[in-house]
This record gives sequence, C-alpha cells and structure tokens, in this order.
Amino acid sequence: MGTGQGRGLFVGVLAGLLTVAGAASAQSPQLQRASVTGSITQGVPAQPPAREWSGEDGASGHPLMTASAIREAAANFDSCIAGMWPEAARRRISETSFVRFTADLTPDLRIMDLMDAQPEFTKAIWDYLDVLVNETRLARGRDMLARHRATFDAVEQAYGVDRYVIAAIWGIESNYSTMGGDRSVLRSTATLACVGRRQAYFREEFLSALEILHRGDLRPEQLRGSWAGAFGPTQFMPTSFKRFAVDFDGDGRRDVVDSVADLIASTANNLKKDGWQAGQTWGYEVEVPEGFNYLYADRARRLTLAQWQQLGLRRAGGKPFPRLTDQAFLLAPAGAQGPGFLMLGNFRAILRYNPAEAYALAIGHFADRLRGGEPFVQDWPRQERVLTRAERLELQQLLAQQGYYRGEPDGQLGGRTREALRHFQSSTGLPADGFASAEVLERLRGR
Ligand code: CA
Repeated sequence: MGTGQGRGLFVGVLAGLLTVAGAASAQSPQLQRASVTGSITQGVPAQPPAREWSGEDGASGHPLMTASAIREAAANFDSCIAGMWPEAARRRISETSFVRFTADLTPDLRIMDLMDAQPEFTKAIWDYLDVLVNETRLARGRDMLARHRATFDAVEQAYGVDRYVIAAIWGIESNYSTMGGDRSVLRSTATLACVGRRQAYFREEFLSALEILHRGDLRPEQLRGSWAGAFGPTQFMPTSFKRFAVDFDGDGRRDVVDSVADLIASTANNLKKDGWQAGQTWGYEVEVPEGFNYLYADRARRLTLAQWQQLGLRRAGGKPFPRLTDQAFLLAPAGAQGPGFLMLGNFRAILRYNPAEAYALAIGHFADRLRGGEPFVQDWPRQERVLTRAERLELQQLLAQQGYYRGEPDGQLGGRTREALRHFQSSTGLPADGFASAEVLERLRGR
C-alpha cells in the first residue's frame, strides 16, 4: 500500500514547517481521516463545491492516475462493481442488498483531482493549532462534556480512556458534529476501489461500507463523509468502524453518526484498542536547553523522563514530572526555535488514530485545555516563513545533489527529508532539528 491520499492532502496542507511522520511509507487505514481535518484546518467546508473532474493527468505521475487510465477505468466501472459480488457474498451481504446499494452507483471522478492535489501553500504548525484550539471550540467542548456527563462517565468507566481526549477528537474532527463532508461514502469508496492508484485498499473500504449498510447499523443517508471515505463526527473509515464501533446505547445499531453514546464509546474503544493507557497523559511541553543536540529528537529514541532531565530538559512552567520512570520521545515540531514536547505512550495511541504529529499534538493540547490546563508556555517562531512548494522541491533537490537525500523530491517534507536536513544542519553547525526554514534553504543554495 502506498501513501494514503487522505493523508497526502493533509501533508500538503501542513508540509513545510511540520513534522509529519513517515510520509513516504504511510500504511494505516486511519490515514483517510486526515483529509477532513486538513480541510477543516483551512477553514472551509470539508468538501469543495461540486465540480467536474478536471480531465487532466494526476500530479502524482502514477500510471493509474493519467487522464486516459482514469477514463478507461471509469468506462469499466459497472463491471468492476459487479466483479466484487463474490467477495460481497462471502461477507454474507445478501444479493438483494448488493443490488439495492450498487444499482445506481456512478464514479465520482472529481475525487481523482482531490487525491492528487498538491497545494502550493501550507500552514505552519502554530497557525494550525490556532485554528483548531480556539476559545469558541473549547467553549463548545466544555458544553458537550457537561451536557453528556453521564455518557462520558459511563464510557470512561467502560474503556478507561480520558473523556477530554475523546471530546478533543470530536471537537477537532467535526467541531462537535457541525462540520463534515457530504459525499456518499459508498460512492466515494466505490470510485476509489475501481479508479486510480489505491484500488486494493479501497476495495476493502467499499466492501466494508456495504457490510455496514446491509447490517443496518447506518442508513445510506447517514453514511456521508470526506472524499476519502471517513464519516461521522469522529471520522471512522468503514474498516475502522468494523473494528471499533460499539452499540453503547443498546438500540441494536452501532450508530457512530447520530448517537452521541455510540460515537463517544466507539472512539474510546478505538483509542483503547490502539494502546491508550488509563490514568496517563499524552505528553508534556518542555524547555530544551541552548546548544542541545537535536539528533536526540527522534521518535525511535525513547528515554525515561529522568534521563531527559539529565540531558537538561525541564517541564515548561516549572512543574515537576509526575512519574520520572515514564518513557518518552522528544518532538520539536518547529525546531530549536520552538517549544519541545516529551511524548508518552498515549501520544502514540493518538498517532494511530491519525498519523500526523501536528494533529496528535492538537488533540493532546485541546484535551489539556478542556481539563483546565493553560496555553503553551513557550512561543512559536511565528516570524518563520512557510516554504512554498517550489522551495520545498528545491530544498529536496539540493539535499539530493549534496548527497544527503536519496528519495525522489515530492515537495512533502517527510521523515527521510528531515533526516537528510538534520545531517546537513549538523555538518554546518546549525541545530540539527530537521526544520525546513528559509535560512536552511539559503545555506543549501550557498553550498
Ligand atoms: Ca446504538
């Protein structure tokens, strides 16, 4: 499986100043959630106004994304859908349901443009956090926590997952059920299962969507969402619905769209199964000392909080760490000029929900604020300019020419680019923080 296109869009929105993990090797089915978050980030409805497919080759250059390949696959759409009947039958979907739900399906080719979108301008992490973690959304979150207190009590009891994190996911994914995509999930996943560069992945999503409809957990008009198939206020993919959705209000349907009890409990169940540890937090803002070796800021390098203290890191705001034996990795999403964060195991559970570090940080911080916590203590380097797509490509090309980077320049500053950047930075005496600033680009040009 290649890069998730939902995530691809998200990376496009965030790339540049963000640390988005492992962009080149994304495999999680949860990736698709990112597309909705990305759109919300930009402050526009999760779906653009209905438009026709551009009819152009996809920017990814993938052979299945050329205009002619898309036309050919679209012409074959009906037989592609019919060809999935044996697999549907194996999943105990009745012929009546299969015919009923697939009879009027047509491909939505506009999705091909969205799948290969490569935005020129991106958002810095501080802008992203400003948009997502704001007073209006927090006030609504507190209101929801009060209004659904009994449900949150029961869910916390049953799953051991912090109510504030669930409330944060609900708030950030859909602004408490008030924002969301309006595309038919069945049509989107059918399109992606038969057209374009990720058909095998989306066959599974399409068949899972059919299973949901056949069993009657959700009605077709409820199963609406992002172009990449995520639906409901906490953005389940059809396959993640199958794994995690629960009927918490006991009406016999797992309604993660309109039942608050079901959606809260299903989201908690998802985090629990992804490794959430009850009674622990996600991480701490930390002050990193001047001259710190940022090669330590690596997800693979987990040390105890006591060891981090020995390296000179301090919890921001002067409070002590509650448990010095907890293991954490250091994240410096805006490099040496911005705040550091020591991330515990629960941060990884949030990353499994959505693999973008900026997203997981927004969730963790939003949860802390709902709990009564303060804004971050340290400032972001807001004077830093976000690199354009052309500059990001140039940065990668220069890193490649100088022997630091081996991948194909793609304009998305993923893990491998950051590693290359760190090695270049340490060779020039700059902090090896992997942060793609305009200054680093200047230095590369000057070589
Ligand atoms: Ca239910």
